Amino acid sequence: MKNTMFLFILLSIVLGILGGIFYPHEIIAISWVGQLFINLLKLIVLPLIFCALVSAITSLGGVNRLGSIGIYTLTYVMLSVSIAVVIGLVLLNVFKPGVGIPPSLILVNATPLDLKPVPFSSYVLSLFPPNIIAAAAKYEIMPIVFFSIVFSIACISVGTTARPVIDFFVGLRDVLIKMIIWLMYLTPIGLFSLLGTAVAEASIQHLLLKSLNGMIIFICVFLFGLFLQFLWQFLLVVFVAKRNPKKFLASASNALLTAFATSSSMATLPVTMLVAKEQNISDDVARFVLPLATTINLAGTAMYEAVSALFFCQILGLDLSIPAQLGVFLTAILAGMGATGIPEGGLITMVMVLRNVNVPTSAIGLLLPFDRILDRFRTMTNVWGDLVCAMIVDQFQQRREMREGHSR
Ligand code: ASP
Repeated sequence: MKNTMFLFILLSIVLGILGGIFYPHEIIAISWVGQLFINLLKLIVLPLIFCALVSAITSLGGVNRLGSIGIYTLTYVMLSVSIAVVIGLVLLNVFKPGVGIPPSLILVNATPLDLKPVPFSSYVLSLFPPNIIAAAAKYEIMPIVFFSIVFSIACISVGTTARPVIDFFVGLRDVLIKMIIWLMYLTPIGLFSLLGTAVAEASIQHLLLKSLNGMIIFICVFLFGLFLQFLWQFLLVVFVAKRNPKKFLASASNALLTAFATSSSMATLPVTMLVAKEQNISDDVARFVLPLATTINLAGTAMYEAVSALFFCQILGLDLSIPAQLGVFLTAILAGMGATGIPEGGLITMVMVLRNVNVPTSAIGLLLPFDRILDRFRTMTNVWGDLVCAMIVDQFQQRREMREGHSR
């Protein structure tokens, strides 16, 4: 059954690409099919995040265990996002793709985007909205994550009378997971339409053939950076988590392809959770770590923020001293974490990084024609990072529990 599905997925990719090249108008006419697939995934994601977090936290058996898993997760996220940004900065300093590109491309030709920077206070306030249902309706993920964590801790401290509440959400979670399993049968159709539409749009705009000129080195350097980010985490899978690399890649490929097709790590979350299950990552760890990591562990996005800011600085001949790059490092981490796994979320938070180095926000216009495709690659990197994060946290937690078991 699994092999047949894999064959269908491969077939849908090949047909999608061919269809996009040779029948672009027909494929675009049925692009609603892909949209339907994304809608169905997103439909399940919000209640799933809530139920998965509540059932995971309440099953962790006390604040102690929650604390250690939480600390491992946050440490991994901070490390992986920082490494991604450092890789990006080093590559940009070595290859200098922006040097030689005329600044007029940013200053004259770019389309100014009406993206105002968000003040820090409104960012904090947005995490704690007065109405959680209204926040959910606007698809704001961060407040849901915060709310679920506090709600679950409250359930634990209430004790026996909260048991029916917990049981209800655990049951609801199982129902949602069942729906995702059914939805996965539609993956080939969804992928066919999403990839076909992307290729068709690019071929209609002649982007596939158009020479990318000065941007090409930048794009290659960024993709190489993503590859390095993929690679060091792959080594963790092999040497720290001691998994069979072939088997792990084969099962992760489902989530990676969905990430590529949907451009959203959030929409991919249901699939990422199924892969974690296949990989025998403990249920309670995966259900806690994955929703959290999907929200804040956007290493590919953080790298994109940093390389783009430096690229623009190189084009404009701006200050690239160590303190200036340190500013890029810090804001890129924050901007990556704020992008919350939605398509092109990284473009919006990039304003914050650009402001910090005095690059006009209109520079983003230079990236727009390429962002749709780059977004797919950074989403894959983000999802890959989430999976490895869950695996490593699970490993560390198991070792900790074994040590504690021995010393008792
Ligand atoms: N689309 C990315 C994700 O969902 C976020 C971004 O880089 O724009 O992970």
